[in-house]
Amino acid sequence: MAHRSVEVPRFRGNGLIEFDHHDYRQPEEGELLLAVGANAICGTDRHEFFQGSPIVPGHEAAGVVVEVGGGTSTPLGTRGAVYLMDYCGTCRSCRLGATNQCLAKRADVGQTSDGGYGPFLLTHESNFFPVDDETTLPEATMLLDVMGTSGHAIARAVRMREDIESVYIAGAGPIGLGLLVMTKIIVGDDLPIAVADVSPWRKEFAETFGVTVFDARDEVGIAKFAPDVAFDSSGRGAARQLALSALSKRGSLICVGHGETLTIDVSGDLIAPERSVIGSEYFRYDEMAENLQRLQQNRDLIRRVITHLVPVSEIQRGFELFFAGETGKVVVTQEVAS
Ligand SMILES: [Zn+2]
Ligand SMILES: [Zn+2]
Repeated sequence: MAHRSVEVPRFRGNGLIEFDHHDYRQPEEGELLLAVGANAICGTDRHEFFQGSPIVPGHEAAGVVVEVGGGTSTPLGTRGAVYLMDYCGTCRSCRLGATNQCLAKRADVGQTSDGGYGPFLLTHESNFFPVDDETTLPEATMLLDVMGTSGHAIARAVRMREDIESVYIAGAGPIGLGLLVMTKIIVGDDLPIAVADVSPWRKEFAETFGVTVFDARDEVGIAKFAPDVAFDSSGRGAARQLALSALSKRGSLICVGHGETLTIDVSGDLIAPERSVIGSEYFRYDEMAENLQRLQQNRDLIRRVITHLVPVSEIQRGFELFFAGETGKVVVTQEVAS
């Protein structure tokens, strides 16, 4: 089939999105062409929204296979989500399954190659993850940053600390909400979970999930909670510092949100209480299968993280809504092209 010439949203910078022509080429060896049905807005899209982008952004995409390149085995019509990192599959990290630490990444979909706010998306078959027919495309996007990034961070926490009896989450934005629901699913629904933020809307929304909510500046309250595991999704130095100091003995701080720094008193913070501080970046492709099962078993809980569905024709409004800060996940949807 010939290339497809369509309208795509172009991120001009200064918070302006306009539609313009774009040609999608045919899929080459090992590639699939998807018709996109959903792409969730992410905090890291802030850069593209305000600074502009030469490519079509969107890295939390789900769609339907409409054309296939040579050497692929995915049937036309297969629905699924697109893993952000176009990993090589052969380097030392990839051979171990650590695709999020690929040493020869070909691209980051929606960041360095065209992503999911356009009607089509070219992806290597290796970073396409098929889903079942029960899972809608907006739900499939939850397998990415919301469930994937959080699930990986929790898996890292579990390796550091086997007896997790309380969890603290700094930041109640989309990743913080992901950590909240995935902690309930993976670690336990009856576990004491506390979430902190400064935004009144986010605090109120987090409260509806039945967890303890702190103002992020409530040093006394958070210190008293003394969690076994703390996640920082806020990226703020003060939040990381407070989370580290609040940890129980043998506690672990997992930094998930990129951003500011952290000062560590090696003797007092690490050696004496045997605490650990580790980072967690995105997730491994091979974690998606288990997360799909978790989605199938906890669909209602996961779906609550999505507060808004916005058609792509109103993508400008979707972004303004999301960056106004009073939403959970905002998912941009479109009719799947044939
Ligand atoms: Zn994201
Ligand atoms: Zn690799």
